[in-house]
Amino acid sequence: MTVHEAAVPATEHPHGAPRTAAAFRAVYGAAPEGVWAAPGRVNLIGEHTDYNDGFVMPLALPHTTIAAASARPDGVLRLHSGGAEGGVVELRVDDLRPASGGGWAAYPAGIAWAMREAGLPVGGADLHFDSTVPTGAGLSSSAALEVVTALALNDLYALGLEPLRLARLAQRAENAFVGVPCGIMDQTAAACCTPGHALFLDARDLSLRQVPFDLAGEGLRLLVVDTRVKHELGDGAYAERRAGCERGARALGVSALREVPHALLPEALPKLAGEPVVQDLVRHIVTENHRVEEVVARLDAGDTRAIGPLLTEGHRSLRDDFKISCVELDLAVDTAVAAGALGARMTGGGFGGSAVVLVEEADAQRVTDAVTTAFAAAGHTAPRIFTAVPGAGACRLA
Ligand code: ADP
Ligand code: MG
Repeated sequence: MTVHEAAVPATEHPHGAPRTAAAFRAVYGAAPEGVWAAPGRVNLIGEHTDYNDGFVMPLALPHTTIAAASARPDGVLRLHSGGAEGGVVELRVDDLRPASGGGWAAYPAGIAWAMREAGLPVGGADLHFDSTVPTGAGLSSSAALEVVTALALNDLYALGLEPLRLARLAQRAENAFVGVPCGIMDQTAAACCTPGHALFLDARDLSLRQVPFDLAGEGLRLLVVDTRVKHELGDGAYAERRAGCERGARALGVSALREVPHALLPEALPKLAGEPVVQDLVRHIVTENHRVEEVVARLDAGDTRAIGPLLTEGHRSLRDDFKISCVELDLAVDTAVAAGALGARMTGGGFGGSAVVLVEEADAQRVTDAVTTAFAAAGHTAPRIFTAVPGAGACRLA
């Protein structure tokens, strides 16, 4: 087990653009042409469904990655991050090959690569990044870094690309250049979320709808509990789950598990009797897609409190069927619910990272204290707990 400290404190950047522009000037000796931001995200519901062509429902965090950047005419790409060691990374856009960058710089370098692969006229650039998105906490610092780079290059080279196209390019960069087989949710959230809304996304055709999610107006809060642990099991397990889902789809004769209707689950599961592990994975994906649709229906009906039990059910499904929870996430969820939360679930890839907890405003402190106390009593690292207010997707700041 490793404990991940955030590179920077998990607070907003009140003066992010001027500060990051000043840092750019200190690194590169001139003012940047512009400053851009992209947020981290939490997923309200719809876990591991995106690569099964299903539904997800993330919202943007107030935590952002900010890029100050200028174009360069000489095809040189220089990358620097306030949150990474090792100084400026210098590459040539002509020489970019998958896995050539290595380390953190592969994420932004992968964006330039993916754009050039797509035939877009992207040349060199100087980029400096600052971030308040905790890394490796399941809050998608990687997508924030990718999408802010994509938006900066889009503007510097006047590409005129839509947010969804930027998200697709960012996913391609992470899949093919960095080598992480992620779905499309994180990049779409970073590119397309809007304040006060959760993003209902169909990962099959990328159709999306902004669903009003005005927690404060209803006297509610969504807490994020960052357990600050990441169990090493996670990396291989993701690929394994993904392969298992694909096997399940093949066995059921569909191109993706999204196509298995919830009502037909009782007929589908017996066909997988010979493969109990796959059967469990399929049960999670099919019920999870259904839960997302139920959450959307309840939000549309104005009954935000009623989504609580669906969140908790979703956690049980991830724990028992998809088997990607861990003791810290289970403790956060069980303690929060026992202390009066309306619902709680792990969010993100699993094996650590964060949980989301829906609480009445009046209960927020009690639930926070209960989780903190339970972690201390169990000898776990103290969790970082903050309120998620649905924020904006990627934008230009200056
Ligand atoms: P998550 O996306 O959940 O935070 P990942 O493992 O997908 O976790 O991505 C984290 C990695 O992304 C870090 O290890 C680092 O390589 C890179 N990264 C993210 N944000 C930054 C940043 N601001 N500066 C440098 N590297 C970053
Ligand atoms: Mg990531």
